[in-house]
Amino acid sequence: MNHERSRQLYDRALSVAPGGVNSSVRATMPHPIFAERGDGGHVIDADGNRYIDWVMGYGPLLYGHDLPEPVEAAIQSHTAGGPMYGMPTEIEVEHAEFVARHVPSVESIRFVNSGTEATVSAVRLARGYTGREKVVIMQGGYHGAQESTLVEGTSDSAHPSTAGVPEAFAEHTLPIPFNDVEAATEVFAEYGDDIAAVLVEPILANNGIVMPVDGYHETLRDLCTDHGSLLIFDEVITGFRVGGLGCAQSALGVTPDVTTFGKIIGGGFPVGAIGGTAEIIEGFTPAGDVFQSGTFSGHPVTMAAGKASLEYAAENDVYDHVNRLGRMLREGITEICAERAPEYTVVGTDSMFKTVFTREGPTSAADCCPAGCLQDPECGRYGACPKTGADVAAAETDRWERVFWQGMKDEGVLLTANQFECQFTSYAHTEEDVERTLEAYRAVL
Ligand SMILES: *Cc1c(COP(=O)(O)O)cnc(C)c1O
Repeated sequence: MNHERSRQLYDRALSVAPGGVNSSVRATMPHPIFAERGDGGHVIDADGNRYIDWVMGYGPLLYGHDLPEPVEAAIQSHTAGGPMYGMPTEIEVEHAEFVARHVPSVESIRFVNSGTEATVSAVRLARGYTGREKVVIMQGGYHGAQESTLVEGTSDSAHPSTAGVPEAFAEHTLPIPFNDVEAATEVFAEYGDDIAAVLVEPILANNGIVMPVDGYHETLRDLCTDHGSLLIFDEVITGFRVGGLGCAQSALGVTPDVTTFGKIIGGGFPVGAIGGTAEIIEGFTPAGDVFQSGTFSGHPVTMAAGKASLEYAAENDVYDHVNRLGRMLREGITEICAERAPEYTVVGTDSMFKTVFTREGPTSAADCCPAGCLQDPECGRYGACPKTGADVAAAETDRWERVFWQGMKDEGVLLTANQFECQFTSYAHTEEDVERTLEAYRAVL
């Protein structure tokens, strides 16, 4: 496979862009692969190589690279009148109405421009609403590039996870392990009256995929209610991906106070959103006193793309299709792992899938959830499947990135190079894409 043009573009990019990329996760080894164009579930790179693309823009592309006709038409009609106005438009009201109708926790919603902006605003809102400063996060959870969550360590000893974040931010952040009921109970016993919010991905998807164990989110829900803290679900990835139009919260049956969105809700354009009960969301200016504002917020083209995408999903078999392909992949990969690497854990749900190269596990093929880890206590692997972000980080991440990912790429199958991110099926993918991907797995694993 020839990558000469990608290599040359990277060479040029290194002279004018830090690390040659605009988002650090794109800096794959030994150099990024530059995209030229998409075609359904496939992507063609700058050298003309074609891949089955399971990265899907890291989450937003529910339809792959070809948009359904009504989505395309909505985008065209909203670009025709000029890109934006700085005045409200009908389409943002329609999009808000659609989301409020389908997502259990949402009565009112503020649209912003990225998932990061959504979680930053949600944390500010929670602090303003409760008059408290501390925020509980999950070790290995990801909420974008924000000061209050780029924090690692434990609730007793938290520190910034990157240069450039003052220690003072970490003082107000309490990281705990995901899926650990005892740790959650303890952190509330110690700091309960100072906790503004628990910020949690309902399913760890950026350091995973890790499903919640039975009852975990119910525990967080109860602790927040008992202590007057807000439960914030970060559904930037899971929103309109898991649980269909009701999002992961409807699948789990737990209703948070606030939900952050991004990715799919903008139909492939830059987006974020913060939704919740009217009482809480109206804490944002100008209704309330928590400042929130943005030149591009509620951008008409983004709103048109997002709303048309979700409406199309409401009226077609979109979730059936993407979830069926997700299941086929997880089942197929589970079979292949059972033969070749029974210690590996296949994870995911709905249209998300991933293989975590766990180091230990039962060697009997029969001993696992057949379509991805569901944290089933009856499953023979239950004790060995990742429960926390740390469990995923302890897997063979180098083997994934430097051996397996490269091998799959050479077979024409594009996965996320980073072991922690997940893969997605789209409406444009076909059963043939699944078959070819499983063949590649057989050849490379
Ligand atoms: C992608 C992501 C973010 C950040 O969104 P950006 O649009 O990249 O800023 C935040 N939280 C979760 C759960 C995400 O998956």
